[in-house]
Amino acid sequence: MCGILGIIGNYEVVGDIYRGLLSLQHRGQDSAGIITYSDRFNIKKGNGLVSEIFKEKNLSYLKGNIGIGHVRYPTIGGGKAEDAQPFYVNIPSGIIMAHNGNVINYTQLKKELEEVNLRHLNSKSDVEAILNVFASKLEKRGKVNIDNIFASVKEVYKKVEGSYSVIAYIRNKGLLAFRDPVGFKPLIYGKKDANYAFASESVALDTLGYKRIRDVKAGEAIFIDTNGKEYSKILGNKKHRPCIFEWVYFARPDSVIDGISVYGARLRLGKELAKTVKKLRLPIDLIIPVPDTSRAAAITLSEELNIPYREGLIKNRYIGRTFIMPQQAMRKMSIRLKLNPIEGEIKGKNILIVDDSIVRGNTSRQIVQLIKEAGAKKIFFASYSPPLRHPCVYGIDMQTRSEFIAKNKSIKDIEKEIGTDKLIYQSYEGLIKGVSGGENMKFCTACFDGKYPTPVDEKILKKIETERKMDKENE
Ligand code: SF4
Repeated sequence: MCGILGIIGNYEVVGDIYRGLLSLQHRGQDSAGIITYSDRFNIKKGNGLVSEIFKEKNLSYLKGNIGIGHVRYPTIGGGKAEDAQPFYVNIPSGIIMAHNGNVINYTQLKKELEEVNLRHLNSKSDVEAILNVFASKLEKRGKVNIDNIFASVKEVYKKVEGSYSVIAYIRNKGLLAFRDPVGFKPLIYGKKDANYAFASESVALDTLGYKRIRDVKAGEAIFIDTNGKEYSKILGNKKHRPCIFEWVYFARPDSVIDGISVYGARLRLGKELAKTVKKLRLPIDLIIPVPDTSRAAAITLSEELNIPYREGLIKNRYIGRTFIMPQQAMRKMSIRLKLNPIEGEIKGKNILIVDDSIVRGNTSRQIVQLIKEAGAKKIFFASYSPPLRHPCVYGIDMQTRSEFIAKNKSIKDIEKEIGTDKLIYQSYEGLIKGVSGGENMKFCTACFDGKYPTPVDEKILKKIETERKMDKENE
């Protein structure tokens, strides 16, 4: 999971890219980078938060009316500074690129690029592979014009497997954005006067005062040339299957992705969950969300069940999201630092805790323990998404199969392991209905049902598991 933002305009864009990246910071806290173009490419990237990497002197150095920014959570690679995006290639013309996603056939592409195309990949970042595939195809076509740019994107679709929403700038030509043929990762664009911006989430456009135009479609490329002329073309031919986890957890609630409000989806997910909870007739006194993601679902759950909602867990805003912290030890430590219960609200009551999902179960166990220590009588735990059982091969670090708590365990066993009196999961139907709002829309739900929208066999799963294991050992 990463956040990307690109602007082509008639003003110095670095301030807006910086502010836009701040609004996308939730999508990755591992590294950040900005490249702008004036009469040269100006580059600043590194490991850390946006506010840590960019200081006043860097911002004044990043001159130009065109730029791309990126915040990263690592996919392939151990999260080293040299893997921070955007990336740059010289030939042809000078191109910079950033992406959000995960390239499944990275190793094969790297080999081919180095042995056949005589290009060298200098990092472990998979966007470097996409960039070099694109650049080598464009180079072969000779002239850098719109037909050849779109034809080269089409070649990327043929060669690159996995998920990728991409923003690139081709020197003195224009800003290019494309979404892989399945459209896993979000990408939206907007306009302010004669200026265009592409971003992972609409919140970045809102923050910068850009009017949303629309989402980039699955398999679509959009190009804005340096004169502000817009070109677009559908180049892929697969069915759109956006990642459902964007609405469940990743995206900010004030974003709208593919026409669906994230906050609206979470409110509906709470309503759907209420259907299951109602049937159980549990003696619940109070509903408490795990902040921040679960608030919306907990509110509608409380309304549907007519049971009070309270903020019983208070979050320290200055600790990062535990789900996207790479190391287990950091996760363990940070939950204690991150959440503190309000004892007066909890003591002597039967509490229903609401969370967005359960991955390994460690966070859930610690939250149950916190609530127990605050004096709750009974503790029930509800996840407004179904059991997670399958690894994501599209860029979400959900660990290897054996690490999913729900992989081979019964609900009773999970209840025991996390220490709750009752565990309730959202149904699969509830998940789809909640997110889609009844619209006829299909999603990638592979981490719940194992049905991957692109060919994924045992070999790929094993390979990804091995890579993740190696990455962890190197952490
Ligand atoms: S497998 Fe899950 S997390 Fe990964 S893209 Fe699909 S829905 Fe999203």
